[in-house]
Amino acid sequence: MSTWKSNPLVGLALLVVIFGAGWLVYRTVRKPGQMVEYSYVLKCTNPQCEEVFEGSYPKGEEPPFRCPRCGEKSAYILLQCRACGKTFTPLNNLYQRAPYLCPECGKRTGYPIEPGQIPLEATSSNP
Ligand SMILES: [Zn+2]
Ligand SMILES: [Zn+2]
Repeated sequence: MSTWKSNPLVGLALLVVIFGAGWLVYRTVRKPGQMVEYSYVLKCTNPQCEEVFEGSYPKGEEPPFRCPRCGEKSAYILLQCRACGKTFTPLNNLYQRAPYLCPECGKRTGYPIEPGQIPLEATSSNP
């Protein structure tokens, strides 16, 4: 039963695994006091641009955010209505204030879009 003790290679491999796991945990857990960033799907409201992009901004920073395409501070958090699927960008919207009133159907069912789930409708007008 004590074969691993007599084999230093197995002990070494075990140490590597333990340190590896520890390093992974260290990498994924954010230390308290670190700047918290929120990831949003944003849309530029500049009619000449209308870029849809993902961005993360420090906690407490409010829209509009700077658009990486046109450089204007005209990007707002993109919302989508869960009832009708319409996407919209109310001014001064913030993640914490959801759900929002949908301009299409008038229901309070507008939520920010999760990063990585940008609907085709939001980007189709932007070739
Ligand atoms: Zn823009
Ligand atoms: Zn709607």
